[in-house]
Amino acid sequence: MTDKVFENLIGGRWIGGADFNENRNPSNLAEVIGLYARAGEAEVEMAVAAARQALPAWAMASPQVRADLLERVGATILARKEELGALLSREEGKTLAEGIGETVRAAQIFKFFAGEALRNAGDLLASVRPDIDVEVTREPVGVVGLITPWNFPIAIPAWKIAPALCYGNTVVLKPADLTPGCSHALVEILAEAGCPDGVINLVMGSGSVVGNAMLAHPDIDAISFTGSVPVGRSIAVEAARGLKKVQLEMGGKNPMVVMNDADLDIAVGSCLNSAFFSTGQRCTASSRLIVQSGIHDAFVDKLQAAMSALVVGDALDPATQIGPVASSSQLNSNLDYVAVAASEGAEVIGGEQVNGKAEGYYQRPALFVNATNQMRVSREEIFGPCASVIKFDDFDEGLALANDTEFGLSSGICTQNLKMARDFKRLSQAGMVMVNLPTAGVDYHVPFGGRKGSSYGSREQGRYAAEFYTTVKTAYNFAG
Ligand code: NAP
Ligand code: MG
Repeated sequence: MTDKVFENLIGGRWIGGADFNENRNPSNLAEVIGLYARAGEAEVEMAVAAARQALPAWAMASPQVRADLLERVGATILARKEELGALLSREEGKTLAEGIGETVRAAQIFKFFAGEALRNAGDLLASVRPDIDVEVTREPVGVVGLITPWNFPIAIPAWKIAPALCYGNTVVLKPADLTPGCSHALVEILAEAGCPDGVINLVMGSGSVVGNAMLAHPDIDAISFTGSVPVGRSIAVEAARGLKKVQLEMGGKNPMVVMNDADLDIAVGSCLNSAFFSTGQRCTASSRLIVQSGIHDAFVDKLQAAMSALVVGDALDPATQIGPVASSSQLNSNLDYVAVAASEGAEVIGGEQVNGKAEGYYQRPALFVNATNQMRVSREEIFGPCASVIKFDDFDEGLALANDTEFGLSSGICTQNLKMARDFKRLSQAGMVMVNLPTAGVDYHVPFGGRKGSSYGSREQGRYAAEFYTTVKTAYNFAG
């Protein structure tokens, strides 16, 4: 049987590429999901030209047209959530429940921005000079390039495409080479929903070829990137060279502080979820569990028992709670970090590679007990189902440990003490702070992003997305 071929969308036409990427299922390596065309520089050139050509009409389109398109896309995703969720789980490896959950989130984001298209308000002020009015309005930025990672293969493209189109920009999307399937499906839905030719363009392929060509292209006005810190840094430099507007969402080493007075079930449940669910492959995962000495042993015992009960297996098996790691390179990196934790003197619980029913990248969750915050496993983002447990004595020390990191995406505290929760919310150096909740798992209608090494530029999602996807104009009008 020949494998199904999926092409790039450029100017409303489906076009092949230089070669094809075999998209394999990490739960079952024998299964090829499809062959996805890899774009080269020539396809990027065509895609940017198509986006540029489509821009004036889309920028001036009635907000009703944009709202209707985004609403139709959201409704279609929702109606197809089981199928799209299964595709997501097959290509990325998160469980079917997580795949469907992420798909529903993508749909909700399109619906949210359908409404926002009608609420793109400005300001009208009196000038400081007589008989003059001043208008402040928001206009599209232009052609935006979107570069996305593999770990949220439908939600992240959705949370960039929806605001981009909402505010009248045209798009060139480059999804991660590891997970092109969800982006292909999403772009197909947009095209079928009536998105005009050239308003959304898909160029699949590697970052070094397609991503570089996008950054070098003078006709791309802005780049929104989600991925790792090293790639993000190089993107910021290239974007500055071309004076492109840029927004980066990057890694995390998110702390969860557990105080002596915490509800033990809430603390263990929150840490189990945010450290290990989605196989730990969330930028908001809790990878440093910072636990006060009085509750430490009870916490570790209970978390260890809950971890050992987790079912690791095929993402599509309804019994599975932890799907496979997404790729062989990620699995090898995770296993290396487990060895590093042991060599650094942590007590390692779990973390071993295991067999599934079929050949896949299966690993049991790992806890690094008696870790310090100085160990490599507590400082570097592992991006797998691995978490350090770091013991501390008083609140100030716990807070200092939480903030002692180059990252600042998400953080959490488990406590029943209002003052400690309040102080932590105020003093945590993170963009998102959780009280008695996992550090991962956020709403779609509020800003998402971090501080320090985790983010650069304005926030994504919710109404704050307008900061990136619009540019402000100040108009003066003399009516004397
Ligand atoms: P990555 O390796 O940085 O890749 C992200 C994207 O950038 C991919 O599409 C990649 O292409 C592309 N890319 C690579 N090199 C490039 C270059 N020189 N120029 C332009 N584009 C380039 O990240 P990943 O491994 O896919 O994802 C994991 C990372 O994403 C983790 O660090 C995680 O924390 C972060 N993440 C952050 C958030 C957030 O919102 N803060 C959310 C999710 C994930 P190819 O890989 O296809 O070659
Ligand atoms: Mg990568």
